[in-house]
Amino acid sequence: MNLHTLIFTNNDCYKAGRKIDVKGIMVHSTGANNPNLKRYVGPNDGILGENIYGNHWNTPRPEGKEICPHAFIGKLADGSIATYQVLPWDMRGWHCGSGSNGSANNTHIGFEICEDGLTDSSYLDKVYKEAVELCAYLCRQFKLDPAAGGVIIDHSEGHSRGIASNHSDVGNWWPRLGKSMDQFRTDVAAAAADGSDEDDSSAETGGSAQDGSVKVGDIVQFKGGAHYASSDSAKSNGTPKAGPAKVTIIKTGAKHPYHIIHTDASSNVYGWVDADKISK
Ligand SMILES: [Zn+2]
Repeated sequence: MNLHTLIFTNNDCYKAGRKIDVKGIMVHSTGANNPNLKRYVGPNDGILGENIYGNHWNTPRPEGKEICPHAFIGKLADGSIATYQVLPWDMRGWHCGSGSNGSANNTHIGFEICEDGLTDSSYLDKVYKEAVELCAYLCRQFKLDPAAGGVIIDHSEGHSRGIASNHSDVGNWWPRLGKSMDQFRTDVAAAAADGSDEDDSSAETGGSAQDGSVKVGDIVQFKGGAHYASSDSAKSNGTPKAGPAKVTIIKTGAKHPYHIIHTDASSNVYGWVDADKISK
């Protein structure tokens, strides 16, 4: 998985700041032929590429609507596939509307896969694999059973269950190219069981970290200072105050090797930081 973080701090959904108890994951696709992450995720962090129309979704109400998933999967400027987390995973998103039985926004993480022209199997193979790894990672983090009913569903299945608006994604796309949600759930369960969802670098915990003792999952003390939207960003994403934070990803050798998330209100650090900014 090629996971990056660029939190949509300008989106009204983020500003609402409601928390959920995560019970599942909803898979969406965008419904528009544009596989480029920069269409939805911005501002440009150097690898997304420039959105010359300025119509990405890190804005109060994208396209005038209350919409905000937790992540997008699509292409970076160089054509490679990446996942961008844009909301804290346990924040209530605005991704599926509601149905006769309520709304999965209250229970499910929602992510969007950027659609292309829906005929290219090689593109679908790549984003499907990225989605499997993302879901396996989230299932492990939130102790979800990917094979259990209603845990991993697409938007159309959410509508059938009465917890989402009437959309057909991803059933409008995957079956055309031989993929199904049943196969997806099986693949996620296998990936979650064997740990193949691990970020290529996050598997390397401890080892070569500054003092060798900080691991993913540790609560550390953030000393205050710059945090970054990605582990190799040149420009900071703000300078939050000091406070306790949890280490969620380690990219050994990166410019800003530790991804941390604040654990209380003393700091709002949420992003990648330098090794000398944290201590146990
Ligand atoms: Zn959808």
